[in-house]
Amino acid sequence: MRLLARRLLLLLATAAPFLACWLFIDAYLLPARLVPQVLNLGGTWKVQEGDAPGWEAPELDDTRWREFQLPGGYSAQGFRADRAWARKRFELPPALQGQPLLFTLGGVRTGRATVFLNGHAVGQTDEFARGPKADIEGLDAWKVDPRDLRPGENVLALRFEWALIGDDGVVDARVLLGTFEQLTPYYLRGSDLRRFVQSGALVLFLFMLVLLGTFLRQEADPARRALQRATFFLIGAAAFYLCVLTGSFAFLSQASAFTYTCLISSVTIMAWALLEFCEQYCLERPSRLRKVHRVICVGVLLTLASSYAFAQAAWSPTVYQLFAPYLFFLLPYVVVLTTRALMRRKRAADLVVTATLFCIFGAGIIDLLTDLYVVHAPRLFGLAVVNMGLCAGAILIADFIQLSYVNKRLSASLAGTNVELGEALRRAEDVARIKGELLANVSHELRTPLNAIINLPQGLLSSFVEQPAVRCHACAAGFELEAGESVGPDTACPSCGAQSTLEATPLCRFDGDLAEVPRHLRTISRSGTHLMRLINDVLDFSHLESGKGRLRLEPLSVSQLWSELHETMGPLARVHDLELRFAPVDSELGLRADPIKLTQILVNLLGNAIKFSPPGGTVELTVAEEPGNLVFCVRDQGIGIAPEHHQLIFESFRQVDGSHTRKFGGSGLGLSITRKLVELHQGNLWLESALGQGSAFFVRLPREGPVEAAPGAPSPSDRHPRTGS
Ligand code: ADP
Repeated sequence: MRLLARRLLLLLATAAPFLACWLFIDAYLLPARLVPQVLNLGGTWKVQEGDAPGWEAPELDDTRWREFQLPGGYSAQGFRADRAWARKRFELPPALQGQPLLFTLGGVRTGRATVFLNGHAVGQTDEFARGPKADIEGLDAWKVDPRDLRPGENVLALRFEWALIGDDGVVDARVLLGTFEQLTPYYLRGSDLRRFVQSGALVLFLFMLVLLGTFLRQEADPARRALQRATFFLIGAAAFYLCVLTGSFAFLSQASAFTYTCLISSVTIMAWALLEFCEQYCLERPSRLRKVHRVICVGVLLTLASSYAFAQAAWSPTVYQLFAPYLFFLLPYVVVLTTRALMRRKRAADLVVTATLFCIFGAGIIDLLTDLYVVHAPRLFGLAVVNMGLCAGAILIADFIQLSYVNKRLSASLAGTNVELGEALRRAEDVARIKGELLANVSHELRTPLNAIINLPQGLLSSFVEQPAVRCHACAAGFELEAGESVGPDTACPSCGAQSTLEATPLCRFDGDLAEVPRHLRTISRSGTHLMRLINDVLDFSHLESGKGRLRLEPLSVSQLWSELHETMGPLARVHDLELRFAPVDSELGLRADPIKLTQILVNLLGNAIKFSPPGGTVELTVAEEPGNLVFCVRDQGIGIAPEHHQLIFESFRQVDGSHTRKFGGSGLGLSITRKLVELHQGNLWLESALGQGSAFFVRLPREGPVEAAPGAPSPSDRHPRTGS
């Protein structure tokens, strides 16, 4: 549906310039039903160069005046004087007699005509109130008093004042006389349409110029800036052209040499900007032609300016006549450029630009042929300028809109990225903090047993006292020496009396409390075991983390598992003054699992339960059957875990209380190792706990052991919900 709407819109935009031209042509043509009712006064007229009073009089003899075709060029038909009179005699058809009439005259180029009917002044073309080209754009009409008309022969006289000899004449075929009632709507339609399009376009152009000016200052991309600049000049020149055409500027409302120079200059600037716009839009870079084009345009502008300054615009028509063929070379170039871009890029907007350029090209040809009096057609160049300005502006506005969409999307994704970055930063800070805590904890965990291992033996060693003594080789008797006493080679053995048989052999004596020694030795042994466990944890974790963990599956009996765990964990529970309860199980109950790893899972959970429970409580191990699974549960009545920490504790090196001053020891690896071991079995691990209300850790394992992953099958972690709460 959206696609259809877009296609329709595109079709409309492409057809719009042609539709506008068609509207103008339609308004120009006299409706067929009016043709028999209207007197067409075009054709052969009589002309006399010069000016004299009384030449409007119907009785004046003009038989010796020269003939003149109307519409047609004045100097093109061999006349040179800047004043001339044209007269035509006609019979008024009976249908037009006795009622108010309307006389229309359009398209007097670079001149003014004053109309007389049977000697009475009817009106004047108002070209002096517009530009010199503008006079051929519009259609003038005057109401004719029926009393000025005669039943027989009537004489229509036109007094011409030519402003630019060489570029003069009547190009418009609408020299018509009809009833006021029938001809007025036709006249109004044409002039209103022209005024509406030109004034409307002018307002739009001014709006676009303000918009473009604002954006131009902010645009950073040089290519876009160049395109915006070319569009700005194109619309600016088009607006200026329209202003002159509609007589919007008071100082340009007269058909003067200055107005003419301004008009031709605006066409030159338009041509300049049009090529730059098309090259920038289609090629996105300047071509070699652009430089040549700039030189030509600057040359034309300078020549026009100097022609005005030094020769009162005398060369201007020649300059324009030379420049016009260049324009006809330029237009096919830009049409080819856009058509090529259209074929290559397949961008919808290119279709609109190409259509507009075709339209300008067609309008230019029609206008040229009209100027040469080959055809009589409505003047379309002004309309083509409107089309061109609107098209360029529309493309740029579409570009802005697209840019604003892109901006919106970018800022949305930027906001998303910011959130992600914030999250990443938070995680990085977490990791840094955890690393710090880990180092502190691990060194604490290492230092405590190492202290025992190093200091206790030192204390024991200091309780041993060395006593000087001698031993006899001959009788093997030993003697302690008194302080200051010594033996020499002549000293005889006090026991056997043998000489030179005594040898210094110091005696070692334990001076401390002998009953303390086993306690110290136990502490040293426990510390060693603790150290070993810590190192094993780290090794296990890195082994599992690197994906090297392999299972040795075998059938296991739960009751067997119970008794092993009882043996391992029972003493620890007793030390903590806890009751370790194993739920009774059927001796048949079993599963396929790795015995060492399953024991490690349950030992870790039971160890935590014992560690985080106050003395006097109970730690309970149960197992429940589910179809295809066994669910082990380690439940304690300990300190419990707040729900917000349920996820965190499964992360490696994470503890609820991470500070090394915490009460309970540990590396924060136990649960992450446990989780990995459970995942290896394709099971899952979760907990139910609340602060101060004990904890229950659940392990669900498949009774038949993990399923062998077929190649391309989802990994165990994909098949099972993620472990954790
Ligand atoms: P640690 O070596 O610190 O025990 P674990 O990975 O085994 O490392 O446990 C991580 C954290 O989870 C513990 O520091 C503790 O805060 C919390 N925890 C684990 N089990 C229990 C439990 N049964 N009761 C209360 N807290 C527990």
